[in-house]
Amino acid sequence: MSNPSILILPGDGIGPEVMAQVRRIIDWYGTKRGLVFDVSEDLVGGAAYDAHGTPLTDATMAKAQEVDAVLLGAVGGPKYDVLDFSVKPERGLLRLRKEMDLFANLRPAQCFDALADFSSLKRDVVAGLDIMIVRELTSGIYFGEPRGIIEEGNERVGINTQRYTESEIDRVARSAFELAMRRDKKLCSMEKANVMESGVLWREVVTEVGKDYPEVALSHMYADAGAMQLTRWPKQFDVIVTDNLFGDMLSDLAAMLTGSLGMLPSASLGLPMANGRPKALYEPVHGSAPDIAGQGKANPIACILSFAMALRYSFDAGEEADRLEASIETVLAEGKRTPDLLGEEGVEPVTTEGMGDAILAALDASL
Ligand code: NAD
Repeated sequence: MSNPSILILPGDGIGPEVMAQVRRIIDWYGTKRGLVFDVSEDLVGGAAYDAHGTPLTDATMAKAQEVDAVLLGAVGGPKYDVLDFSVKPERGLLRLRKEMDLFANLRPAQCFDALADFSSLKRDVVAGLDIMIVRELTSGIYFGEPRGIIEEGNERVGINTQRYTESEIDRVARSAFELAMRRDKKLCSMEKANVMESGVLWREVVTEVGKDYPEVALSHMYADAGAMQLTRWPKQFDVIVTDNLFGDMLSDLAAMLTGSLGMLPSASLGLPMANGRPKALYEPVHGSAPDIAGQGKANPIACILSFAMALRYSFDAGEEADRLEASIETVLAEGKRTPDLLGEEGVEPVTTEGMGDAILAALDASL
């Protein structure tokens, strides 16, 4: 059987810097764990525009469709702000998400103990937090028709339409139930069934799908109440599934419970391919951070944790993902900090590469 394949798209700004550390970790798994990946690398975003005049070539798109997982760094930067909308770096990322039909966006909110004081919430509220928000990514109010700004009488009206088909709700609900099965078997679905018909249908379909997962404890919550509960006592949740709009807000809220942007990974999953693996794109939540690019200051952990998600969700290597996350926990507990994580005075920051070195050392020590 051939090795599992990964396409790496480092992108712009700090993207290549953080991805260089991920490559070292991928190599470590090959040499130390016999987990060998076929890795190829290509351009996306501004880097692709500079080379080819487009933020994603058809050839790169085709490669992304063939591999078992895509790992992306970040795209964008001030140099490209003047470009026409159709060739802006972000269009490359949007094309990947759209053509791979990545409908389930997984955003974990995990609080490493060593960083619990970083949160704006009290330590006991966030310490040990480990929840997962599944946001529907390809439908809902960001895509529904009709949309636009029209003239009505003597004023303008802005219109967007929340629209969900049963099959769209069904597939994202299934992804969330599958995830819950691998975790604490607890799923909370959030919508506004009290005021929105799309929410009524959402609740009905999720309940129906739940019959196929009798082991999962399913609950429902109105999304506004969910936002309150997430800040009051987030540890009551395990997996949350919600629509595109509510998910956009709730996943940002939940993620920031845990501190720095440099720590947040994500996965976007689609339907299973012929080999049973889902179409998948893994990327840190942060952008290309032009303010610190090229200075060795970027925190590579968000990107490394995105690879940990790939190990877990694309490569069925949950124990190796645990090993990588535990190594990161160890390094943080030892007090290693990139500048974005500096809290206490007198702590000397490590560079992007220094953080990579420390994580590799902790991986070695885990054997
Ligand atoms: P950003 O996430 O790039 O940066 C926000 C702040 O967080 C900056 O101060 C930055 O230095 C810091 N930061 C981000 N990641 C970090 C890391 N790994 N380590 C340490 N500090 C980190 O967001 P922005 O400044 O609003 O956007 C910059 C560019 O990135 C823009 O062109 C934007 O369009 C693009 N962007 C891309 C993505 C993506 O590729 N998915 C996401 C968001 C923004």
